[in-house]
Amino acid sequence: MTERFALVALPLPLANPYTYRIAETLGDRVVPGMRVVVPVRRRELIGLVVEVDSERSAAAPKDVLAVPDAEPALSPALLATGKWMAGYYGAPLGLAFKSILPAGMWGESRVIVSLRNGSRGHGGLAGDVMTWLESKGGEAAVSSAARALKRPVWDVIERLVRVDAVSLRIQPPDTAAASLTERTLALVGERPTLIERDTIFKRRPKQRQLYETLESLGGSASVRHLVEQLGFGDGVVRALVQTGLARIGQTELVRDPFAGAPVTLPPPHLTTDQQSALSSVIELAPGQGALLFGVTGSGKTLVYLEAVRQALRDGRGAIVLVPEIGLTPQTVSRFRGAFGDEIAVLHSGLSDGERADAWRLLRRGERRVAVGARSAVFAPVANLGLIVIDEEHEASYKNGEAPRYHTREVAGVRARLEGARLVLGSATPSLETWERTQDGLHLLPLPERIGARPLPPVEIVDLRVTPKAAGTGSVQWSVALDEAIVATLARKEQALLLLNRRGYAAFLQCPDCGEVWQCPRCSISLTVHQSPPALRCHYCGHEEPLPFTCRVCANPVQRMRGVGTQQLERMLIERYPEARIARMDLDTTSTKWSHQRILAAVEKGEIDLLIGTQMIAKGLDFPNVTLVGVVDADTGLYLPDFRSAERTFQLLAQVAGRAGRGPRGGRVLVQTRHPMHHALVWAGKHDTEGFLRQERELRESPPYPPATSLVNLVYSGPDEREVGSRAAALADWCTALSERYRLPITVLGPAPCPLVRIKDRWRWHVLLKGPSETLGRVVRYAARRLKREGKTRLVIDRDPVSLL
Ligand code: ADP
Ligand code: ZN
Repeated sequence: MTERFALVALPLPLANPYTYRIAETLGDRVVPGMRVVVPVRRRELIGLVVEVDSERSAAAPKDVLAVPDAEPALSPALLATGKWMAGYYGAPLGLAFKSILPAGMWGESRVIVSLRNGSRGHGGLAGDVMTWLESKGGEAAVSSAARALKRPVWDVIERLVRVDAVSLRIQPPDTAAASLTERTLALVGERPTLIERDTIFKRRPKQRQLYETLESLGGSASVRHLVEQLGFGDGVVRALVQTGLARIGQTELVRDPFAGAPVTLPPPHLTTDQQSALSSVIELAPGQGALLFGVTGSGKTLVYLEAVRQALRDGRGAIVLVPEIGLTPQTVSRFRGAFGDEIAVLHSGLSDGERADAWRLLRRGERRVAVGARSAVFAPVANLGLIVIDEEHEASYKNGEAPRYHTREVAGVRARLEGARLVLGSATPSLETWERTQDGLHLLPLPERIGARPLPPVEIVDLRVTPKAAGTGSVQWSVALDEAIVATLARKEQALLLLNRRGYAAFLQCPDCGEVWQCPRCSISLTVHQSPPALRCHYCGHEEPLPFTCRVCANPVQRMRGVGTQQLERMLIERYPEARIARMDLDTTSTKWSHQRILAAVEKGEIDLLIGTQMIAKGLDFPNVTLVGVVDADTGLYLPDFRSAERTFQLLAQVAGRAGRGPRGGRVLVQTRHPMHHALVWAGKHDTEGFLRQERELRESPPYPPATSLVNLVYSGPDEREVGSRAAALADWCTALSERYRLPITVLGPAPCPLVRIKDRWRWHVLLKGPSETLGRVVRYAARRLKREGKTRLVIDRDPVSLL
């Protein structure tokens, strides 16, 4: 019989998969897509079989140790998607699969062996494994068996699996932590006086200590904290409970806001426009895609819902992608309302174990619709019939680490491989997607808001000439915006105020010598924070106390520049004391579900003014919001990045779209110093096509996507000279390659990145421009240079969304 070998991808940055021998005893169970346990150095890791071959490509390969699952974890289509990703983005195959399979299914997850009912009596070597297992209550980790018996046990265990004496399963690393409740110890009844305590706790000093610790912790604490961090024994905890002075209870650790949340029932009838968009989606050929180009409030969600319903009717499953699941509770509740238990919501609050569970339910077809952010594009939905990408222009659809995939591209590949239909939706599509409507992507417009409600009028307020309100400190506050807010409050309506800069002030500067406080580790100024007060770096988290004097000239006065959301909030609280104000930015939403709490309060009418960064611009549908104010439209306008105009336009158009969604209508005020910038002009007219047309022309020269494709090759490392010279060598190599093969590409650089240092690493880049296919060839060559050269690293970013 011929020997067979498996190419196994491991979730590590290795250039190539490893080869393992498949012992005959494993039979035909080792097939592509299957998880296997393999030895790697001194560890046993879980890997994924990529190929099975009768040729060995390594000398003396080790054996595959075990096959824990009955079925392959990845379908052939997902396997092919992973290979495509590795090839297209120049990423190690193992990392491509790592992003496909949830974390709980990988790595050093423990393999658990359990005794099957009634099996006994295996003599010889197998006998001691069985006896040991019995002594462990029938179930234990394989690695502990090897340790206890002081010899390798995999061959024996594999044999026992074949005769059904034991079974294997892989325990995700965090199943223990996955529990949603936690045991707490809480004081009950009246607190004894100190004299009473002397009697109650006589000769029980530990119990008294525990009692008083609980008292100082506000009357209750988690048992785990008391035992693990504070060192109280289980016995002391039990004894205190027996005295009746304390009680064990359960508190919820994390609350899934989607589980019990009110579901929203969909509107019963489609409008004519929605109906014709839906028909076009249904008529798409398998593998084809469409852009649902609907203005804000045009009812795109209902079209997605009905398209999903149709897929289910056809006996197929669907994936619905949203930019950030925490920011789109309304979309999720609409899908829950329509499909109930058919849905698996893949949100960031899931533990690795829960995520792996959701994954299995989808794989087995017990859930047929997956809703989630970027990585849900890999959801193993059985018989996939539809992929929806809501707000397809959002930057969060691009993965920030290798493989640096774009969700839209992956979705396109999956749709073609599985014969699914792809629906991209946006009021402000990316230029790339817009370009594709000329070339195969169907364009489905929804030009009007539901109920023929007009889009809110946008007034551009030119900060250079407009009268300012008095007494607003450093905040640029026009009389127009001031009056609009007063009127909104008087009518008991709500307003959103967008300021895309968190913190108190953008930076601190000495008015005398001009010195700006910079991060010692990054090439960026430190942001001033007031709650709590500090200078903080938004890239690396570096923090230092607010200085009183200039470190260069010792001038005692330091000036804050660039108003941030904290400062705006303080000003608003003073100016509109009767208003209920909330702020939503990274600093107020760092805890789980804090987004939902703020948004729920707005929905219930408990907030009058919501201040926020770009977070408040997305997908929210609050009919009582009648005013949107953009406090400073210029924050992102002149960033050194080819997408800064596009991003500004999208942000303005999206946030403007939050106003006037109810019968009371609404208006938008945009404060700026660049009223003639085309991003502002077109956003002011709600004319997305006008913007796309003009911006597309600007992308011709110098060429930027979609006029050309891009690959950004970024070297980074602690030594600036080293990084610079590697980047120079890479640029020379690219130039030589292009000359030798006469490739139609342009090599730009080497040059320092606009952010030349982040987290103590210097960054230089080489930018390639040219046709996508040619760049693909260069990427495949460049990927061979990926191996780490000392502390200097190369990142290949194909189709970058930003060049900062
Ligand atoms: P978009 O995502 O395009 O901005 P939404 O999907 O949020 O718009 O829809 C806007 C509002 O219109 C929602 O409150 C939704 O419930 C309502 N709506 C959508 N379609 C209909 C319909 N056919 N009939 C009545 N109301 C609708
Ligand atoms: Zn920093």
